[in-house]
Amino acid sequence: MEVTYNCWHGCHKKSEGCLHCYVYRRDESIGKDSSYVYKTKNFDLPVRKKKDGSYKYEAGTEFMLCFSSDFFIEEADEWRKDVLRMIRERSDCSFFCITKRPERILNCLDPQEYPNLDIACTMENQKRFDERAPIYLNIGLNKKTVVIEPMLEAVDMSAYIDKIDAVTVGGESGEEVRILDFEWVKDIRSQCKEKGVAFHFHQTGARIRVNGRLYDIPRNKQHSQAAKAFKDQY
Ligand code: SF4
Repeated sequence: MEVTYNCWHGCHKKSEGCLHCYVYRRDESIGKDSSYVYKTKNFDLPVRKKKDGSYKYEAGTEFMLCFSSDFFIEEADEWRKDVLRMIRERSDCSFFCITKRPERILNCLDPQEYPNLDIACTMENQKRFDERAPIYLNIGLNKKTVVIEPMLEAVDMSAYIDKIDAVTVGGESGEEVRILDFEWVKDIRSQCKEKGVAFHFHQTGARIRVNGRLYDIPRNKQHSQAAKAFKDQY
């Protein structure tokens, strides 16, 4: 079972991919300030128990960690210690987060101590790939997943591809979106295929250009259209 676990909420825009951040968009619609970072009421979610003393979330649960913030944001440095304790306690479950702050990972934890925590890193354009890949890929993580989402331009991964285990690509969702060119996606897929790196086209985003033609993709079709784009994910 997959469970969203937002232990804290709020973030600061870090790079080009944050321009239309869904946390900011959602908060704006209800007049909330996304730059205020606070612990949520679900902070202890992984270790909550039922009346009989067993865990509410059974062994094997996959916790999607910190999807309304960044797990490595500075404001959470004290709170993170408690979350890491819970991750250790729930060694029978897995935790997955995506960060734009790979430079902070080793300040916050020793990845070897958390084999049930997978940390992926977003690199939305060439500039951020060149900046973050050498940091992220040399941290010593068990699994190294590069997330190019929202993909903003073609990205040449050749300098570091030998160190990458998996690449996920996707477009941008929302009202104001930047266009995803399907040629960029195909190029990433080719780079992955050549080196035996796992590839996943996660979602098309709201606007995609295919063979020079622009398509608007409704929200409820963005994942399914991406899944149909290739016979396999290579
Ligand atoms: S790092 Fe993620 S959560 Fe934070 S502002 Fe950027 S897109 Fe939003």
